[in-house]
Amino acid sequence: MIIEDRHYDVIVIGTGAGGGTLAAELADGGRSVLVLERGQSIPPEDLKTSGTELFRKERFHPKESWFGTDGDPFPPQMLYGLGGNTKIWGGVLERMREQEFGAVRLQKGSTPAWELTYADLAPYYDRAERRYQVHGKAGLDPTEPSRLADYDLASRPIEPVMEELRAAFERQGIRAYDLPMSWSESQTHPCGDAEQFGVIPAQTNPAITIRTGARVRQLHTNPSGNQVKAVEAEIDGDRWLFRSHLVVLAAGAINTAALLLRSGEGRHPHGLSNGSDQVGRNLMKPQLTSILQLAARSGRGHDARSLGINDFYWGDKNVDFPLGHIQSGGGVLQDALFAESPPVLSLVSKLMPDFGLEQLAARSITWWAMTAVAPDAHNRISLRGDQVQIHYEANNLEAHDRLVYRWIDCLKAVESDPLTQVVKTAPTHPRGQSPLSVLGVALGTCRMGTNPATSVVNLQGQSHEVSNLFIADASVLPSCPSVGIGLTVIANAIRIADHLKELL
Ligand SMILES: Cc1cc2nc3c(=O)[nH]c(=O)nc-3n(C[C@H](O)[C@H](O)[C@H](O)COP(=O)(O)OP(=O)(O)OC[C@H]3O[C@@H](n4cnc5c(N)ncnc54)[C@H](O)[C@@H]3O)c2cc1C
Repeated sequence: MIIEDRHYDVIVIGTGAGGGTLAAELADGGRSVLVLERGQSIPPEDLKTSGTELFRKERFHPKESWFGTDGDPFPPQMLYGLGGNTKIWGGVLERMREQEFGAVRLQKGSTPAWELTYADLAPYYDRAERRYQVHGKAGLDPTEPSRLADYDLASRPIEPVMEELRAAFERQGIRAYDLPMSWSESQTHPCGDAEQFGVIPAQTNPAITIRTGARVRQLHTNPSGNQVKAVEAEIDGDRWLFRSHLVVLAAGAINTAALLLRSGEGRHPHGLSNGSDQVGRNLMKPQLTSILQLAARSGRGHDARSLGINDFYWGDKNVDFPLGHIQSGGGVLQDALFAESPPVLSLVSKLMPDFGLEQLAARSITWWAMTAVAPDAHNRISLRGDQVQIHYEANNLEAHDRLVYRWIDCLKAVESDPLTQVVKTAPTHPRGQSPLSVLGVALGTCRMGTNPATSVVNLQGQSHEVSNLFIADASVLPSCPSVGIGLTVIANAIRIADHLKELL
């Protein structure tokens, strides 16, 4: 075991939406920060999903197996590297709706009220949008939460075919808005991410040390169990011990919980900070279905996401429960989520039997339907030896089905409109639900709250049981909205960083 002499102010574990952002926020001021990231920096050219390669090589799957609900092993879609899963995300950064901070009744179950309100988080959403250079246009989405001003950066122009589709939807009374997107200046990887807007700004401060290839294995506590005294990481086959005043865990919803469970010792026999048996429980992932539409002309298959539709977010004609969010999916060859859904592509090939994957992609317009799920204590991660075991059953299924069928009806309506030239009527709209392996979108395994019996951390992200341990990633979110959670994770990390700065 190698013990590093230096004692840091803060150790941050993970550099995704939570950890990468938090490291950048701690960079102003003279605090010494050690960031431990198990992956490496991924060159932008490697992230270019060069066509069908995305599907064939199982890229973005680390070499590890987790066990699913059926007990079978599976390769999770999980990116380990500087920036974490934000390196392959779609870059759509939306705020949660105001009502989603309160209790929401779903078709099946309900979501708990947060102990924070939208107003509490709104200033951090502002800062999150600025840090991640979110381009958008306020006032078009009927469900948009209140904001002080329009986005600082205007939405970028979208593909002409999508602009034509927006007009086609409008003729049907459907309002499509510009998805708020994080864009950087990079030519090779223009989608903004936590490496570009978190890690790289943090690196400008010499007081911040970033160690890649450093897989944290365990957190060790003092004899009374109320402080983390050392962080153990594996680097190039050696075990290292690092020490700091505060420790922030931001390894993502699955790995943060797994790390706490692996760190059980002494006063914490069932896992660190797990006296309430809450660590790993309430695992959520939004229901995601991809739907393909036949384009009239060949496109590129590589477009960014562009249009959002929230007309069914809170319900529909004769439906008084939320259905969810629709967004254009970007190209089949652009979006790592499609690579997880080969069944969709086999369906597409039935639609166009003589086409290869490149051609199928070029002739498809893709849509995602996204629906919230309710937290359920039985949906959880646990350990099977040293490996991750997931038990997960999605809920709120009928709401999602209704959204999917409603959207397919909308697609049919525009296709049969003679004024719409950009899409063709097709016998079917191939679709597929994202499988369990899509866990880069997971949340909720170490939720925050004031009651130590039902939560793992308090509202400042501080463990109820270990006073110098904080969590600042997707695991602390108490409920799952129908829009993506990336911006909420970022805003919350900024909020926690402000609190840590006060403590140091
Ligand atoms: C294909 C895809 C598309 C998505 N698109 C969108 C989108 O358009 N909009 C949106 O809002 N959200 C999107 N998401 C979800 C979004 O990426 C996540 O919600 C977000 O990244 C979660 O942030 P996090 O900090 O919790 O975890 P992550 O971003 O996953 O970061 C966790 C970090 O911890 C590191 N780590 C893990 N274990 C260890 C360890 N033991 N030691 C050291 N380091 C460790 C990882 O390498 C990683 O850097 C998408 C996700 C995927 C997979």
